Amino acid sequence: MLEDKNHTRTSISELGEFGLIDHLTKQFRVEQKSTVMGVGDDAAVLSGNSKKLKVVTTDLLVEGVHFDLGYMPLKHLGYKAVIVNLSDVYAMNAEATQITTSIAVSNRFPVEALEALYEGIHLACQLYKVDLVGGDTTSSTSGLIISVTAIGEVSEDRVAYRNGAKNNDLLVVTGDLAGAYMGLQILEREKQVFQVNPNAQPDLEAYTYLIERQLKPEARKDMVTLLRELEVKPTSMIDISDGLSSEIMHLCKASKVGCNLYEDKIPLDPQVINACEEFNLDSTTIALSGGEDYELLFTISGDDYSKIKGNPNLTVIGHMTAPSEGIHLITRGNTKIPIKARGWNSFSEK
Ligand code: ADP
Ligand code: MG
Repeated sequence: MLEDKNHTRTSISELGEFGLIDHLTKQFRVEQKSTVMGVGDDAAVLSGNSKKLKVVTTDLLVEGVHFDLGYMPLKHLGYKAVIVNLSDVYAMNAEATQITTSIAVSNRFPVEALEALYEGIHLACQLYKVDLVGGDTTSSTSGLIISVTAIGEVSEDRVAYRNGAKNNDLLVVTGDLAGAYMGLQILEREKQVFQVNPNAQPDLEAYTYLIERQLKPEARKDMVTLLRELEVKPTSMIDISDGLSSEIMHLCKASKVGCNLYEDKIPLDPQVINACEEFNLDSTTIALSGGEDYELLFTISGDDYSKIKGNPNLTVIGHMTAPSEGIHLITRGNTKIPIKARGWNSFSEK
């Protein structure tokens, strides 16, 4: 877990906007060859490799909609805000190279809070070897808003879109699913316990993996490297931010194919299985509809199966079909159930 530090409170107005930007970004070092000019000029300047495609993606995170500072420490928030963007770059089978970070903050946030936010951003930049090259800073009359843009590159013959899956391709997922959602359940329960009894010491020992999945998710840069090493080119790819069902539907819709997903193949960590029992939740439902696992979901040609077979990070969970066959879950009892998108939707009522 990441730790927040001291409790001193320095007002943002003491530093001023320029002082603040300087203060928050001075610890960042440029590592990518392609970063010609980073933070400090009117715009960042990047050099291009004419043989590579550029990939650009943005995510906007709003307090009260996407995160709750009640159980999300700011350092974790900064880390996660970067990770969700890198995950989108990796989902194109690309390498991430630079990010920009824009924030809107109310003056209830002291400088120390923003330091914690940028510590998390800094840690993600270091671990994933991406450069922070710019951003924007403004005030907010309500909560905290943070927007991250990530830039990456990929050669034309490696780029993976959502629309390339073919009938009979295998559906593959990295890592395991449903951990982040169950981590959130644990954290929400502990928050309620704390509200009733602030002296209660939460015992989270049995859930460390789940809480880590929620508070400190990782993006699968390692899987992009692995696929290249295995000489496997995904025919289509997406990252799992909203839950398996809606991501499968995105791939199927874009690729104009159907899909059979096998319930008994869905990879679940033992902590997920235990927590689901405790909360009386069905682990398949959570894998299908829970979100924020940031694993990669992709399809490969059946000819590539021998290259990924036996790899503990890669699980074949189904196969694509003719579009007329639709999208189905084949249950453990061998029943065929149509899959509906039940992932997170910011605009749906809670
Ligand atoms: P401008 O007035 O041209 O928008 P700014 O004063 O906002 O310039 O920004 C100065 C420099 O600091 C630019 O390089 C900008 O990208 C960078 N920057 C501004 N805000 C942030 C931030 N929150 N995080 C990282 N870099 C920032
Ligand atoms: Mg600006």
